[in-house]
Amino acid sequence: MSSVRPSTATDLPAPVRTISAPFHVDYTYVAGVGRSVYLRGMAERRFLARRCPGCGQVYFPAPQHCARCLQVLDPPFEIPGTGAVSTFCIVNLPFPGQLVEPPYVVAYINLDGTGNKLQHRVLEVAPGDVAVGMQVEPVWTDDDRLEPSLASVRYFRPADPALRDGGHDA
Ligand SMILES: [Zn+2]
Repeated sequence: MSSVRPSTATDLPAPVRTISAPFHVDYTYVAGVGRSVYLRGMAERRFLARRCPGCGQVYFPAPQHCARCLQVLDPPFEIPGTGAVSTFCIVNLPFPGQLVEPPYVVAYINLDGTGNKLQHRVLEVAPGDVAVGMQVEPVWTDDDRLEPSLASVRYFRPADPALRDGGHDA
């Protein structure tokens, strides 16, 4: 009678940690009436927000209907695009497709005049100098690279020039 020896880690081949599985998907994104307003604004260097006539919530980006009371939002109006850091993280790990070399900051930003938050990078500042409440402003891409997407805003930076390090650009 043979004995069954329990396997150990030394009996197993090295674990597979990554695989390469490229794929391609073609799709059509339909922004809808509400999101189209925001996207067209991005192509024109404009932050277009909308207010709910029912509860007063101001959205950027704005959908067509209020998420809280389902009313159709009022016509768009322009906001400056400035805001304050609400929360943030420092990205230290590299990953495929990354646009900025780590370390850098990704933050939720309370845009002035709105009731929701926008996620974006905060650059031109040492990550350790970013703080909750820091006032930030958008940095737009060049005119020939403007498009109907949030990519038209390259990143946010401290509104106070004295807080900028000027060294980390994207
Ligand atoms: Zn509402």
